[in-house]
Amino acid sequence: MATKTIKDVNLSGRRVFVRCDFNVPLKDGIINDDSRIVAALPTIKLLVEQGAKVILASHLGRPKGEKNAKYTLAPVAEELAKQLGQPITFIEDCIGEEVEAEVAKMGEGEVLLLENVRFYAGEEKNDPEFAAALAKLADAFVNDAFGTAHRAHASTAGVAKHLSPCVCGLLIEKELAYLGDKTANPERPLTVILGGAKVSDKIKVIDALLEKADTIIIGGAMAYTFALAEGRTIGESLSEPDFIQTAQSALAKAKEKGVKFLLPLDNLGVKDLNFGAGTVGDSKFFEGNIEDGWEGVDIGPKSIELFSNEVKSAKTVLWNGPMGIFEIDACNKGTFAVAKTIAESEACSIIGGGDSVKAIKMAGYGDQVTFMSTGGGASLEFLEGKELPGVTALDQI
Ligand code: AMP
Repeated sequence: MATKTIKDVNLSGRRVFVRCDFNVPLKDGIINDDSRIVAALPTIKLLVEQGAKVILASHLGRPKGEKNAKYTLAPVAEELAKQLGQPITFIEDCIGEEVEAEVAKMGEGEVLLLENVRFYAGEEKNDPEFAAALAKLADAFVNDAFGTAHRAHASTAGVAKHLSPCVCGLLIEKELAYLGDKTANPERPLTVILGGAKVSDKIKVIDALLEKADTIIIGGAMAYTFALAEGRTIGESLSEPDFIQTAQSALAKAKEKGVKFLLPLDNLGVKDLNFGAGTVGDSKFFEGNIEDGWEGVDIGPKSIELFSNEVKSAKTVLWNGPMGIFEIDACNKGTFAVAKTIAESEACSIIGGGDSVKAIKMAGYGDQVTFMSTGGGASLEFLEGKELPGVTALDQI
């Protein structure tokens, strides 16, 4: 079964409720990163070209069910109008008679942006009345908000009960293709690189990917729990001793499945790390065991070489999670080296959302990868093999 997409229908002349992910980083009303707006454009443009009446909805931040000017979507309306090259009507509410009256005035190909749906508590509760009030504005539903597709909220799932057709937009279609099909049926070898802070957050992903990958590479703090599982010492490095057994099971499963499982050969250890100030004290590389008093914060040069060689021979690469505390300059070499190798490789490269996307952009390679996911939590849940309520609510063919 496949999810119906916007390409399967013609929404000309119809009122279309389009759930976007305009949850952009804002500081003093200025948008710091417009990636999510850019990512939403293809679907909006297609609907405009078809002559649909395009009613856009999104959340922004965590206003906790109350109106709060700090989380208004007004700056998004302004930026979106600029990027789209046409005026956008912004309404300071998302349900009710005034909104309905504005929608009634819309012509074909016109675009309207509703105010933050999370100004109502009913949004995150998936309250049926709130969903019905949103749905009253439209005939059809297009979900293109991948970042919230793992949540059953009123505007991501609830509205679907009232509208027809219910299809995914071009962004979700692409996310499903890369995180789904292209990793489930990849061009081989498929090398998966996982990093970040916690094994507990990613163990289900590791487990699911052990069924698909030819090679799994582990970096970041996660690697220290695996080091403990192999009987090595890790000094003061971040680890999860409660998950040592889980790590051992993953290692055993890899052996059983014939999946190459690579852990760092060496690590950068530091003293006196101050995350807030972005500084570290003494530092040195450790091969194998890390001594007491030292904290592992990045992979070392031998690991970089090992991991890079693996990436170079892959036909598909999936990356999720940094190799070290990349937010601090002294600890970003491993993450940036991996980013560079992925960017330079000929493989289909899929960056699985969250911090890896941030890191690849910081390293300056954002435009040299095949696909960057716009979802953090959603991409992880999808890679785990979980159903996404914002997708299952849509028409299936
Ligand atoms: P996650 O959200 O699980 O992908 O984790 C991302 C976070 O992991 C980043 O903020 C990194 O700073 C952090 N991280 C990566 N490597 C380490 C490490 N060796 N020690 C502590 N934190 C780390």
